[in-house]
Amino acid sequence: MSKVLLSEAIHESGLRLLESEAEVIICPEPTEDSIGSLISDVDGLIIRTAGKVTREMIKKAERLKVISRTGGGLNNVDIDAATDYNIVVCGVKGPQDRMVAEHTVALMGALTKQFFYLNAQVRKGNFASRKEYRPAGLAGKRVGLIGLGRIGRIVADICTRAFHMEVWAYDPYVTPETLEAEDIVLKDDMAAVIRAADFLSLHVPLTEDTAGLMGNAEFELMKPGAFVINTSRGEVVQEAALVAALKSNKIAGAGLDVFEKEPPDAANPLFDLENVIATPHSAALTKEAVALLAQGSAENVLRVLQGKKPSYSPNWDTIREKAG
Ligand code: NAD
Repeated sequence: MSKVLLSEAIHESGLRLLESEAEVIICPEPTEDSIGSLISDVDGLIIRTAGKVTREMIKKAERLKVISRTGGGLNNVDIDAATDYNIVVCGVKGPQDRMVAEHTVALMGALTKQFFYLNAQVRKGNFASRKEYRPAGLAGKRVGLIGLGRIGRIVADICTRAFHMEVWAYDPYVTPETLEAEDIVLKDDMAAVIRAADFLSLHVPLTEDTAGLMGNAEFELMKPGAFVINTSRGEVVQEAALVAALKSNKIAGAGLDVFEKEPPDAANPLFDLENVIATPHSAALTKEAVALLAQGSAENVLRVLQGKKPSYSPNWDTIREKAG
């Protein structure tokens, strides 16, 4: 029987599936030390968001054939190293897309409608807060999207069709011909999108090019009164620059699902700011999606162990070509 290591527990829909065909081992904690100490003796590994799979770990993993993530972002796996050792890296794309897009738009709404502030005022008897006129509308506002892939496109669809907002986007890998929606204004200049946005929302993968993409210079370009939303990866935003932009009221607020360091320190200066709404990298973790993601990651492990192609893998073709 194959052995599959889980960096941490996954939803029972995936666990049950794995247990029907493999011996399952769960790491005591999702750290490199813990995963590294168990990786040499397993055929498959499932990893969630926490923990990294490094070249050093992969070198020790003599039996390992597949590393499967319970999501689509594979930035915590050294894919080049895995490819060198013929280990298939795979992920699950699909169930989380609409959930993350909904979360993004919910953050926009909560920020502009001032839900958290007003809720606190009503609870402490300040009903007169209704006359502070702090909320603002979404209709007619401009959303700037950096990254127009799976999630960015759903955000664009919700914003234009449900909320009657205008959408501008920057994505150097997307051409107007490949864009089905006609109501997205595609720009080839990122600065133009940042400058024009009332809500700037980030939907790029974390790569060498996108790490630190939002720094002092980019926040300086933003409209006064604009909001930034990040549901992509924490490292895409330089947090010190974001804190400075928020503290100086250069921008009106931020909605953040992801952080430079996860979990963030309790002393993170972002948490001292009232104009920040934070969620714990939970945009995809809805009741509906979490079961599908666990199931998809388990199916991917079992497929690879049976020699079949997983649902999504950046290195499957390369490894097959090498094998001839
Ligand atoms: P995707 O690959 O479908 O789309 C990403 C888009 O970014 C692509 O169209 C690509 O061309 C574009 N892009 C790449 N580099 C760029 C650059 N330098 N400037 C502008 N555009 C660039 O990815 P997706 O599934 O839409 O995911 C988007 C982000 O959301 C990723 O970072 C992913 O890890 C993250 N995500 C977060 C959660 C969560 O729980 N918060 C869940 C799922 C995905």
